[in-house]
Amino acid sequence: MSPKKEMKKKFVKVTQTKKAKPVNVAPKKTAAEIDEAKTAKKIAGQLMLVRGMKDVLPPQGDLWLKMLRTAADIATAYDFHYFETPVVEATSLFVRAVGRGTDVVDKEMYTFEDRDGGKICLRPEMTASVARAYIMHGLHTQPQPVKIWNIGPLFRYDRPQAGRYREFHQLDCETIGEASPVVDAELIVVAYNFLRDLGITSTVRVNSLGTPADREQYLVELVGYFRSKRSYLCEDCKKRLLKNPLRILDCKNDSCAGVIAEAPQIVDWLSEPSKTFFMTVLEYLDELEIPYILTPTLVRGLDYYTHTVFEMVEDTEDEKAQSSLLGGGRYDGLIEQLGGQSTPAAGFAVGLERVMAVLERQTKAVTEQPMNPKPEVFFAHLGDQARRRTLKIIEELRRSGLTVRHNLAKASLKAQLELANKYNATHTLILGQKEVQDGTILVRNMESGIQEIVDQKKVRQTLQKIYGI
Ligand code: AMP
Repeated sequence: MSPKKEMKKKFVKVTQTKKAKPVNVAPKKTAAEIDEAKTAKKIAGQLMLVRGMKDVLPPQGDLWLKMLRTAADIATAYDFHYFETPVVEATSLFVRAVGRGTDVVDKEMYTFEDRDGGKICLRPEMTASVARAYIMHGLHTQPQPVKIWNIGPLFRYDRPQAGRYREFHQLDCETIGEASPVVDAELIVVAYNFLRDLGITSTVRVNSLGTPADREQYLVELVGYFRSKRSYLCEDCKKRLLKNPLRILDCKNDSCAGVIAEAPQIVDWLSEPSKTFFMTVLEYLDELEIPYILTPTLVRGLDYYTHTVFEMVEDTEDEKAQSSLLGGGRYDGLIEQLGGQSTPAAGFAVGLERVMAVLERQTKAVTEQPMNPKPEVFFAHLGDQARRRTLKIIEELRRSGLTVRHNLAKASLKAQLELANKYNATHTLILGQKEVQDGTILVRNMESGIQEIVDQKKVRQTLQKIYGI
């Protein structure tokens, strides 16, 4: 039988069957496929991923995209506007903004000499770049506050471990040019709702670092206290005592825990205006029913914070899985410190790899579960004419918000139905020569094998009816 006739026969078979047998889902690998897999393995043996870096492949990539879309939706809903700054910045920017004595600047920056001898680095955080751009582009002349958001990669030469990479990504939201505590509360709400929209319930940990003047007096007290307990501190904290004593409060070492628990707390050293500011932020959170825990040891790693600082952790029984998903706070002094006018500002940064880890855990085996709540429809075609019409119908469906999978390079219907099964398609649209002429299409239920003949103009309505959308 000629190939054309054979195809026609197959097609007729499919179009005429009311209840077709399910197609074999896992076909045996051919010799060529086995060879290909062996070659890929060999090449992989010679290639390597740089330590602390990560690839994101499908299906995790789909989940990643869902997270980015949620971020864009929530940021725009709260009237934040998208910005981009370069990944490469002058090293001096972070030395001035983040400060010497911090881990980020002293140990973790990817700094190198440019070909002209200039010192540049891969940005380790976003806020300093935002402040630089605000000053350089004169954004203070725009209506204040300037509310901007961004997603991008950051680089820190840290010790890689679960949830800690050397290249990682953050969703960053900043409100610049407004001193009111309502800004701090709004940022917390945006961050909280971003996680909630992704199905993650979290608790806010919040503290106030007051003004630099409040902190000066507190630091005298704190250093005095830690000096008196020096022998109980871990080696790292002994060094921090000289360089950055606030960071001792952040230490996770068991030997320091007792000393930290008894340490003086910054809230007791806040001036009256600072206390009122902090209380107002908390009142907003109460009103908005955002759960929070006052955390006197929360100081965050960077020097530029003033007043409110916060982090969020997932609500989970498993304390080991509890890592900080995001961090933020107010940085009223930063823009002036970098040479701009005195400008109040606040922001937060969400660690997207950490959020992703929670999402993957929540959706359990993402590879086994369809993560996309959208309908899984496959479009199979048979013959050249049908292929051309397929493209047109797919485009019409896409415009009405329905995305269908397809593989126009495959000619065999059997191969396409196998693909539909692999993708867990619940329905397959089948378009052959006969249907092109009739102006119809077959809608095949992949589980039952039952096929319905539908007018091509009514495909969208039929799918919407099936999926209740
Ligand atoms: P930071 O910029 O240090 O305030 O961190 C903000 C958030 O970014 C943290 O809460 C983490 O979720 C995330 N993050 C920070 N460092 C890393 C890293 N090395 N790898 C992955 N995520 C990170």
